[in-house]
Amino acid sequence: MEIRNKKALAAKPGAVLMDIDNTIYAYDPAHQAAFDAAMRKTVHLLGIKQSEFEPAYKEACKQVKQLLGQTAASHSRLLYFARMLELLGMKSQPLMALDLEQTYWRNFLSASKLFPQLKEFLEDLRVAGIPVAAVTDLTAQIQFRKLIYFGVDHNFDYIVTSEQAGVEKPGAKPFQMALERLAVHEGKPVWFVGDDEVKDISGAKAAIGATTLQKVHDGVTASGEADVVFEHFRELRELLRKAE
Ligand SMILES: [Mg+2]
Repeated sequence: MEIRNKKALAAKPGAVLMDIDNTIYAYDPAHQAAFDAAMRKTVHLLGIKQSEFEPAYKEACKQVKQLLGQTAASHSRLLYFARMLELLGMKSQPLMALDLEQTYWRNFLSASKLFPQLKEFLEDLRVAGIPVAAVTDLTAQIQFRKLIYFGVDHNFDYIVTSEQAGVEKPGAKPFQMALERLAVHEGKPVWFVGDDEVKDISGAKAAIGATTLQKVHDGVTASGEADVVFEHFRELRELLRKAE
């Protein structure tokens, strides 16, 4: 753990806001398992080669993102698979697109694992009477499902997705919505825990002046702006214990 701003951590937080993806679990291995399963299914269903799947999927993602910009739906696997099937010359195939989406997320969830002591950290916050909100990009449907799958849905007082906020992080709205719901006491610091240096760290600083704690692991590098850079949630439990 690297503490860059000791002063910001002196007082116990009045609330903790937290990102989900790549913050409470590692995203890459889950995505890889899900992607491989969706590819195998497509290859099997359509009788195409793997080498045909990848470029079509990539192109579909690119087109959906370009069209929708910074919105929750721009991350929709359903829209990616639907467009991919069109690009593969299948016209619209609603049943197959839904099936591939379900395959993707089912495999994603079964390959994802909460980081050690995240749940204990959330329980420490509950015991200390500190409210917690998740602030996350993507659609409510899958983000709710993830928290339920991990068994931490009751550990969050509120969940704000970019679908509900209408804009994505680092836009200010999702952060502000979470704070409004939590009704934090004036003058108490708010912690934001996330992995992404632009969306989470710079975003939370600019939008709500949060004390920022960046979760790093394989594939995540520390930003210059975070007040704390940590690897393990036991380190945050320690910080919480020490704060007055
Ligand atoms: Mg993230």
